[in-house]
Amino acid sequence: MTREFQVQGVPVSELARRYGTPLFVYDGTALRDRFHGLRDRLHPAMEVFYSLKANPNISICALLHSFGARAEVSSLVELTTALRAGVPPQQVIFLGPGKSRQELAACLDSGIHAVVCESIPEVALVDELARERGVKAPVALRVNPRFAVKRSGLAMGGRPRQFGIDEEELFATTDLVKRFPDVDLMGVHVYMGTRILHEAVIVENTTRILDLAERLSAALNLELRMVDVGGGLGVSYFDGESDLDAQVLTDGLHPVIEDFTARHPGTRLIMELGRYLTAEAGTYVMGVRYTKTSMGERFAVADGGTHHHMAAVGIGSFVKRNFPMAVLNRLDEPATEEWNVTGPLCTPGDTIGKKVPLPPVRPGDLIGVHRSGAYGPTASPGLFLSHGYPAEVLVHEGRCHLVRERDSPEDLLQRQRLYDPTAHDAADVPH
Ligand SMILES: *Cc1c(COP(=O)(O)O)cnc(C)c1O
Repeated sequence: MTREFQVQGVPVSELARRYGTPLFVYDGTALRDRFHGLRDRLHPAMEVFYSLKANPNISICALLHSFGARAEVSSLVELTTALRAGVPPQQVIFLGPGKSRQELAACLDSGIHAVVCESIPEVALVDELARERGVKAPVALRVNPRFAVKRSGLAMGGRPRQFGIDEEELFATTDLVKRFPDVDLMGVHVYMGTRILHEAVIVENTTRILDLAERLSAALNLELRMVDVGGGLGVSYFDGESDLDAQVLTDGLHPVIEDFTARHPGTRLIMELGRYLTAEAGTYVMGVRYTKTSMGERFAVADGGTHHHMAAVGIGSFVKRNFPMAVLNRLDEPATEEWNVTGPLCTPGDTIGKKVPLPPVRPGDLIGVHRSGAYGPTASPGLFLSHGYPAEVLVHEGRCHLVRERDSPEDLLQRQRLYDPTAHDAADVPH
């Protein structure tokens, strides 16, 4: 018998038959193990917030919350998602460089733990909104630090950015607390970058962030009720990368956190994680429609592609590297050939894997992209060529749950209008 990829005993062919392809499948047990693998080792004072950006599906958020994760959100819909998923407002923080008045108002009205402000004009707007409401707005300041992280996929600090307020500027603005009487400046946030795969780099970042927070607090007479040390914990996707060791990481962090909490016992410490929590638990499943050769290379043309999984095109690198991929319905067959795995889009860019070692591929096969639970459909051009979003299925405790319906043609067309040549919008100047 051929060995088949299964999620908690459910064969992938059964999932494909029930829900169709392309399809994202999430393994709830993998999600739980991932969360607890870190949580159970991490210093108890450090809270884990889930960054919805990585996978904003409401069921993923709810499941992570059921394990103990809080939520870090960056849009009105992410905020609504977290609250509807059952995350209490006091376990939610909102960040992002361009928050609207409506989003900031929603933060204040829903009573979240903190609005993380990324510029002084934003603090001023929050101050105004708080005054209108007769409340004091809990605000943490996002700092763009002078130092940069080494060896991360995408570094944040140490350069001009739209994110946060420059460290220098903050130290020079000593009247900040006085200037905004309706804002409760209660914390500091620093995010150093993403896809970090070195435990020592995360420990060093955390040390420097906690130190910066203390210095800022002293210089600005700022309360430190919260320090968000970011995170940026990576997962390995490509050859030559290796996963973080949760034990090594948490052992390294422990004395740093212990030291800080001894001096600031009342401070909420936050780590915000997206990719690290969800990537491993997800598989993108595509059905092969056609196979062909072109100028000596093999092509498997699948029903899914980069419009659902832009990340698989190679994150932040000029060299195209492949995510881990397999023919899911024939796992035991050796990878004896090289295949270009492409999708239905009319662009050569719709190549999800280049020269991927696979067994001989046949139409009807199911090709899977592993480690696809983060930055999938919502980080991809899902509307390109109007294919729309795929279905998403969560398998948890042996049960299958459709957690996102596949877009139908009607879903995609309903917000467009066929113009009527005899009418015009009221605002237009008739001629
Ligand atoms: C994107 C982002 C995250 C989540 O990043 P991951 O690499 O997925 O963990 C967390 N915090 C901020 C500020 C971000 O921009």
